[in-house]
Amino acid sequence: RNNGNETSVQRYNVLMMFTKVDKSQNLQDKFRVAMLSMVKYAQFLEGEVLVLHFVSDPVSKVLGEKMLQEFFKNVTFKYEVLFHDVDTFTHRLFPIVEALQKHFSAGSWSYFSDAIFFLSVAMHRILPQNLTRIVQLDIDLKYRTNIRDLFQEFDRFPPGAVLGIVREMQPVYRHTFWQYRKENPQTRVGDPPPEGLPGFNSGVMLLDLGAMRASALYNQLLDTTNVTKLADKYSIRGHLGDQDFFTMISMEHPELFYSLACGWNRQLCTWWRDHGYRDVFDLYYRCDGPIYIYHGNCNSPIPDD
Ligand code: UDP
Ligand code: MN
Repeated sequence: RNNGNETSVQRYNVLMMFTKVDKSQNLQDKFRVAMLSMVKYAQFLEGEVLVLHFVSDPVSKVLGEKMLQEFFKNVTFKYEVLFHDVDTFTHRLFPIVEALQKHFSAGSWSYFSDAIFFLSVAMHRILPQNLTRIVQLDIDLKYRTNIRDLFQEFDRFPPGAVLGIVREMQPVYRHTFWQYRKENPQTRVGDPPPEGLPGFNSGVMLLDLGAMRASALYNQLLDTTNVTKLADKYSIRGHLGDQDFFTMISMEHPELFYSLACGWNRQLCTWWRDHGYRDVFDLYYRCDGPIYIYHGNCNSPIPDD
């Protein structure tokens, strides 16, 4: 007898890049901190499932499965773990993101394997249609709250928004957009918050895959001619992959983005403070309000509390 319960199962999908982890004790340590803190605070209701997607290579997968068994051994909520092969994803991504790579990859040549750094940009074309929302997370994070709460932010997207993301907390785009800022002295591009447009950080991203598929505007922006047009307008050559692309299109089309509170991705890297931007650094770095997720980016230590 089918009582229909299957249809009421609600899945909370999260995705993490998980490659070359076997080769790095540092990454393994970060993964431990991330998963143990996630498990510590995670709570889900009856009929809800946390689905963890990992984009991984075969050797990292074996290690990841073993580590996850240990981290999740005492959890009381339902969860599923899915590993996706990084090479398969890369092959499917490359034709979609090749144009982006030319502008936003390090060096002058676009390497085939770098396509994966643009996964979030074209995820709506890679994952199955029945997946309509997913949260992409770095592994150098430490959770201080229930991961389920992050999904409530999807319901606060304004119409037309495709991505929820936190602003960048260093003056990196003040640097990247240096030439455009020089030629347009009145611009807010690259200025600090709250009035300025400091760009985004890709450590925590809410991808409304349904909205990404439905948005004619968003998909047009992926076309080669449009990418070239905007990259020329803003005179930018980035190296961070997806976050450079999202930052650039947000300068032109802010309505595509829902700005998450800074506490959802409290970045800790201070590299730019000591590399020419000491005078303005704190204007970018400050984040008032509760911290839900720490991000130990550029190998920054994460506080113990
Ligand atoms: N990553 C990975 N293997 C690597 C390096 C990075 O899987 O060898 C993934 C991992 O999920 C990581 C993300 O890529 O969190 C982004 O890298 P990282 O967090 O080190 O960059 P940062 O936040 O410091 O800019
Ligand atoms: Mn990171």
